[in-house]
Amino acid sequence: MALKALDVFKLLPKTNCKKCGCPTCLAFAMKLATQKATLDECPDVSAEARAQLAGAAAPPIRLVGFGPEGKRLEVGAETVMFRHDESFFHAPGIGVVIPDTLDAAALSARLAAVRALSFMRVGMRIGVNVVAVENVSGASAPFVATVKAAKDLGLPLVLITTQAAHADAAVAVCEAERPLIHAASGSTWEAFAQVAKTRKCPLAIAGPDLDAVAALAVQVRKAGVDDLILDVSAGTVGATVQALTAVRRLALKRKADGVGFPCLTISRQTDAGQNFADCCAFISKYAGVVLTTLSSPEQIVPLLTLSQNLYTDPRKPVQVEPKLYTVGAVTPQSPLLITTNFSLTYYTVQSEVESSRVPAFIGVLETDGTSVLTAFASDKLSSEKVAAFLHSDVVTKAVAHRKVIIPGYIAAMSGALADDSGWEILVGPREASGLPKYLKTVWQGA
Ligand code: SF4
Repeated sequence: MALKALDVFKLLPKTNCKKCGCPTCLAFAMKLATQKATLDECPDVSAEARAQLAGAAAPPIRLVGFGPEGKRLEVGAETVMFRHDESFFHAPGIGVVIPDTLDAAALSARLAAVRALSFMRVGMRIGVNVVAVENVSGASAPFVATVKAAKDLGLPLVLITTQAAHADAAVAVCEAERPLIHAASGSTWEAFAQVAKTRKCPLAIAGPDLDAVAALAVQVRKAGVDDLILDVSAGTVGATVQALTAVRRLALKRKADGVGFPCLTISRQTDAGQNFADCCAFISKYAGVVLTTLSSPEQIVPLLTLSQNLYTDPRKPVQVEPKLYTVGAVTPQSPLLITTNFSLTYYTVQSEVESSRVPAFIGVLETDGTSVLTAFASDKLSSEKVAAFLHSDVVTKAVAHRKVIIPGYIAAMSGALADDSGWEILVGPREASGLPKYLKTVWQGA
């Protein structure tokens, strides 16, 4: 359990030497207790105090990593209940479950399908970043063979089995990948803990309810395995979300032992819609690893998109570089559109222009990553700013005509912009989805 600031203070040297950058030891204690400083910043703390303070300095939720070098997935170390309080930091692993009962052709097709679950969105590559192999056969040989084949995907592996010996045999063929072993339970935890400890792998803990899982986590930790992930999958989506929420809350408040670890869920619903909805709930509510039996792109892409949206820092909108972009083989007569440097806005406009097959310039203005309406309302997208951009060398050298298409949402700017720039202002559609039609009809007739 965590120490409070005053408890921390009692263990510090109390010399107020300021070497840590704080004016007093008490100020440092307060920072330490709230995870805003690390113990290493005080060079004079004694070894005994260091040992006692380790708990206070440790994050409330342990950061746990698994997977091969370069593709390692790290989950946990979250600090808030709500994204807007600060940020969520470690996006969940989203992975598909592959049973060890597939024949060679089916397994090969399944692995190829998993390999294809990688997409570009708003300038970033998103994709399935975990693969789980489940020991459905109950036998060791097919489990090991499937793990061996899945290893070639190069993704972090989860080895799902109820038999510690099977886990051990499977880890033996992918030990360098540092897989996550799933899962120790009430009757098997000692054997699983032994495998995890010997093989230096993280271990998932499962149980009938959260109390049982937390109690087991304490026992497994005492047995020498620190990297744990709690499988809190319950019978219903509601019960699972409740458990995920309880773990996050109790861990952040340091109100219980055995909960300061990331969580894992497995969605096995045969109804694809329900399975998808369950995964969405688990991604939104704190799961660190979300495994599903779904595997088609139309089911996986929205899950990845949801995760990508939640795990961006709300304090720093994702931005693109403000500059003049081109789409297609532009000529000096190609249309020029204006938008903001909010990444989502730019890539939406860019993909619609691309689909129109009308080569075009897109002028992206610096708006601190805000969307069109927000930028306009806060004067970050003013007529003066747009006019200055239109008069810049980069635009006047590339574009021969003097017509600019502004977003429909800022039609109110058109009069002032015409005065400030001397350009002809064309008001585009409000939504980017209207751009293909606009470019093919209005622009080409303009
Ligand atoms: Fe106190 Fe250590 Fe900071 Fe010096 S460096 S003020 S002893 S906490």
